[in-house]
Amino acid sequence: MILRTFSLSKFFDGLKALDRVNIEVEEGKITLVIGPNGSGKTTLINVITGFYKADEGRVEYKGEDITNKPPHELYKKGIVRTFQIPKPLKKLTVLENLLIARENPGEGIIGALTKAYIPKEKESVEKAFEILEFLGIEHLWDEEAQNLSGGQLRLVEIGRALMSDAELFVMDEPLAGVAPKLSHDILGRMRELCEIGKTFLIVEHRLDIVLEYVDKVYVMASGRIIAEGKGKEVIEKPEVVEVYLGA
Ligand code: ADP
Repeated sequence: MILRTFSLSKFFDGLKALDRVNIEVEEGKITLVIGPNGSGKTTLINVITGFYKADEGRVEYKGEDITNKPPHELYKKGIVRTFQIPKPLKKLTVLENLLIARENPGEGIIGALTKAYIPKEKESVEKAFEILEFLGIEHLWDEEAQNLSGGQLRLVEIGRALMSDAELFVMDEPLAGVAPKLSHDILGRMRELCEIGKTFLIVEHRLDIVLEYVDKVYVMASGRIIAEGKGKEVIEKPEVVEVYLGA
């Protein structure tokens, strides 16, 4: 297991947003977390990636206790996170957005950045182009981010994450706003990345599209894991049907 949580809890003013959550994320696989709105999925990701502090419990990455370590430390260890709403720098081009990703691992320290800070070593540029080609958006390299469609921005966000050399990608709704065909392409690319040892922990609502690509599914409701399994059979479990119908 590359990542594990042990009885992880997070409270907001008495509300148990996470209630003793145990999950296991296997290396080279895609693990999916689903559940109705407000069930705690984003909170789980936020606690694992250091954006929120856990109140109880533990997170282990490669056997090391990483509970409540800040995002930049986790980034150095190989954990990168993407957001529900992509945060590219709109005035920068696609290529520039990838190049600054190495210096700016998605923590919002963007105020001080100007184009002068963008690293331009040959190696970084080559890597950025390789990633853009892999994602099928190399033709957009010189386009300002503000001119891209929602789906293209999503790909840039994934490209930024790939620039990091991370091993574990934690993604909050990577397919939000992405058309079905492109969604299948993105998931196909993720599967290819699994083959070279990358690991994904994702939250996603688009079950019709995502289920066939994932190795393991956890279902959350009211801050707890209420079911787990391999794919379509999980969402057919009576306890899962019930929380979705009740939501
Ligand atoms: P999901 O991602 O499954 O929709 P969330 O993790 O966003 O669910 O939210 C779980 C619960 O925690 C909700 O009741 C939500 O209102 C609450 N919550 C999430 N973040 C905060 C916060 N920063 N402050 C207070 N309550 C929060």
